[in-house]
Amino acid sequence: MKKVIIIGGGPAGLFSAYKLLQNNFKVDLYDHSSGLGKKFLVAGNGGLNLTHSEEIDEFVKKYGENESFFASMINEFTPNDLRSFCEELGVETFIGSSKRVFPENLKAAEILLNWIKILKENENFSLHLNHKFTKINSSKEITLIHFENEVKVQGEYVIFAMGGASWKKTGSDGSWSDSFQKLGIELSPFLPMNCGFERSWSAFFIEKINYSPLKNIELKFNDKPIRGEAMLTPFGIEGGGVYAHSLALRDQVIKTGEATLFIDLKPNLTEAEIQTKISHQNDKSSLSNQLRKAIGIDQVAFILLKEIYPHINRDNASGSIKNVEISLCGIRPIDEAISTSGGVRFTELNEFLELKKLKGCYVIGEMLDFEAPTGGYLLQGCFSSAARVVRGLSV
Ligand SMILES: Cc1cc2nc3c(=O)[nH]c(=O)nc-3n(C[C@H](O)[C@H](O)[C@H](O)COP(=O)(O)OP(=O)(O)OC[C@H]3O[C@@H](n4cnc5c(N)ncnc54)[C@H](O)[C@@H]3O)c2cc1C
Repeated sequence: MKKVIIIGGGPAGLFSAYKLLQNNFKVDLYDHSSGLGKKFLVAGNGGLNLTHSEEIDEFVKKYGENESFFASMINEFTPNDLRSFCEELGVETFIGSSKRVFPENLKAAEILLNWIKILKENENFSLHLNHKFTKINSSKEITLIHFENEVKVQGEYVIFAMGGASWKKTGSDGSWSDSFQKLGIELSPFLPMNCGFERSWSAFFIEKINYSPLKNIELKFNDKPIRGEAMLTPFGIEGGGVYAHSLALRDQVIKTGEATLFIDLKPNLTEAEIQTKISHQNDKSSLSNQLRKAIGIDQVAFILLKEIYPHINRDNASGSIKNVEISLCGIRPIDEAISTSGGVRFTELNEFLELKKLKGCYVIGEMLDFEAPTGGYLLQGCFSSAARVVRGLSV
C-alpha cells in the first residue's frame, strides 16, 4: 500500500485525501491549525459558491493565462463531478439564477462535517492537527513543528495543499513560501485577488454609509461593464462587482497608484429615460425625494451621488446617475482578499502538478500561481487540481 503525506487540510488537501483513500492509498494529513477546512467554512458564510454551471468552454476562460492547463484539469474533473461529490457526502446542490452552483443550505459546514467523518472512519487515514510545516529538504525529509517540538516525517509521495496568503486566521498564511524558495522553486509573489479598493471618503460619508450595499448596478472599468453589486465601506469599496474587476483594477493601481471605476446606478434606464422621469416630479420637493420617486434611488445611492457630485441638481442628475466616477487610490490589504494570485509557478510543475525539482512532491489548490474570479472558479480549480494529482499517483 503506497503512503501519501498531505500537508494542508483545506478543500484541496481534503479532496485529495478522499480520492486517495478510495484508490487504496494510505494517507497521513498534517495541518498547523486546530481544525480542518477553516477557509472553506468562511467561504460558506455568504453562501458557498461551489462551482458554476456554464459551458466548460466558457468556464475555463476564467483562468486567464492558465486557461489551457485548467481546461485539461476541469475537463477531467468537471463542475458536475464536483456536484456528484457533494451528493456522495449527502448534500444536494442547486443552480442559482446566476448559474452559480450552491449546496442546498448554502453553507459549508454540512459538507465539511460529512467529509471529515468519512475520512476519519477510514483506517488508512491518520490526521495530525497542530503540525506546522516549516521545511522540506532535497531528500524529501519534512520538518513540522508540533507545540514547539520538531517532528520529522518522510514520505515517498507528498502533496502540498497549504493554500494562498489571505485570511491568515483560517490558517492560510503563505509561510510555506520560504522553504520552497530555498529549494530554488520559483514562486510568483503573492498579490491580493478578488479584493477591495481604497478611497478616501468625506467624514460625513463615512458616518452615514459605514457598510452599505449598492444593488443592481453596473460597474465599468476599461470600458468593460459588469452587472452586480458593491459594498461601500469606510475605507473604499468592495463586493462582487468590484471583485469581478479586481484583477484589472489591481494591476492599474500597482502601475499608476490609482484607478477609476465607473458605476451606473440605473443600468436598465437610459439617460434620456431618467431625465424624463425626473422631469415629471414635483420640483418643489427635495432632490433625494424626486430621485427616489422617479427612479428608486435609495438613500445610500443618493449619499454617494452627493459625495461625488456635490452640485448635483434636477437638470444634471441623469448624467451623474449613469456615470458615478469613483477614483480609487489603493488596494485593501492582502489578508482581506478572497484569494491571492502568486504561488508555485506552473513552469516548476509537470502535467501531474509534480515539482520538477522534487520528484514525488505535488502542489495543488491555491498554492498554485493562478488567478480566477469569484463564481465558484476558485474551489473548482482546487478540486480539479487535487483530482489531477490523484490520477497521476494512481496510474
Ligand atoms: C471570505 C471568503 C469567501 C470565499 N468564497 C468562495 C466561494 O464562494 N467560492 C469559491 O470558489 N471560493 C471561495 N473562496 C476561496 C476558497 O475558499 C479558497 O480558494 C480555497 O479554500 C482554497 O483551498 P485550498 O485547499 O487550496 O487552501 P485553504 O483552504 O487555504 O487551506 C489550506 C490549509 O493548509 C493549512 N496550512 C497552511 N500553511 C500550513 C503550514 N505551514 N503547515 C501546515 N498546514 C498549513 C491551513 O491551515 C489550511 O487548513 C472564498 C474565500 C474567502 C476568504
